[in-house]
Amino acid sequence: MKDYYKILELEKGATKEDIKKSFRRLAHKYHPDKTGGDDVKFKEISEAYQILSDDQKRQQYDMYGNADFNTGGASAGQGGPFGGFDFSGFQNANGGQGFEFDLGSIFGDFFGGAGRQARRGRDISVDIQVTFAEAIFGIERKILINKTSRCDSCVGTGAESGSKTKTCPTCNGKGKIQESQRSIFGTFATTKDCSKCHGSGQVPEKVCHTCHGDGVIKKQQEITVGIPAGIEAGQMIRLSGQGEAILNGPAGDLYVKVHIERHPTWLRQDANLTTTIKVKLSEALLGSDYKLKTLEEELTLKVPAGTNNGDVLRLKGKGVPIRAGRRGDALIKVQVVMPARLSKKAQKLIEELKDEGI
Ligand SMILES: [Zn+2]
Ligand SMILES: [Zn+2]
Repeated sequence: MKDYYKILELEKGATKEDIKKSFRRLAHKYHPDKTGGDDVKFKEISEAYQILSDDQKRQQYDMYGNADFNTGGASAGQGGPFGGFDFSGFQNANGGQGFEFDLGSIFGDFFGGAGRQARRGRDISVDIQVTFAEAIFGIERKILINKTSRCDSCVGTGAESGSKTKTCPTCNGKGKIQESQRSIFGTFATTKDCSKCHGSGQVPEKVCHTCHGDGVIKKQQEITVGIPAGIEAGQMIRLSGQGEAILNGPAGDLYVKVHIERHPTWLRQDANLTTTIKVKLSEALLGSDYKLKTLEEELTLKVPAGTNNGDVLRLKGKGVPIRAGRRGDALIKVQVVMPARLSKKAQKLIEELKDEGI
């Protein structure tokens, strides 16, 4: 464990001003650009300053003696493939003209890159269609998606196995690139995350042979989507981390939008399933056994004698599964079909019924 106070040649109770002064003095002394400069030492004092100049980090360091801080960089904070920052690019980042201590901008860029934290892979969404019964009872669906996924050869690091890291040549380890942009108001400079190292300032010495250092490759991937029982039309299923992958950041999410096919005879009404059956007048009067096809089986539905047109018969527990073990009901509406034409014989019989008071 490093003693940051010792590195900055300070006592434990040093004031903020002491820390700043000591850092300036030592940074001048050891800066790699100077004769007698020391790259390793310079990194060490920079690291010590970064911790001790930050009240919160200093407090944590004093309390736990713990130097394992999240320095705000995408890789350093995740214990990723790049072990912290490399300051060897400093001189270039400053254009080689001496070493001016613009603490705000230099360390702001290195350690507080707010934009970097937010980097994550793209969310993707897919539409899938399921049958009515699949939506009611749930199903597992395998889908094939062509997306940017983590490279398996390098487990997303972009580095060939066993390769060390080096300072990113594009941004000289700064993690940021300055760009001039023209607008109607004139030209102005903007700072962007370096596209080569994605803001980490480090790249592998030897890049992965599969992804060429990208850490990700476009490939077709089979994903199993569990569609829960009772899902409703238009509902989205979110699969966290199954979106597109990126180097040095979390993957996006995959959103699966579920479309449900219509069923020729059944409809859904909240937790219930509804349908309409047609029975003859005689069947309604005398009662009958109706062969009913539910979503699961064919069963015999008892239509009781004297059923009225529009009566609803209920099959308990044959509806939509709601919670573990519980289901809604199946509601069957009876439509009594009147004969369009009566034969002579039928007419005679009906007239007899009429005499019976029916
Ligand atoms: Zn870079
Ligand atoms: Zn790779």
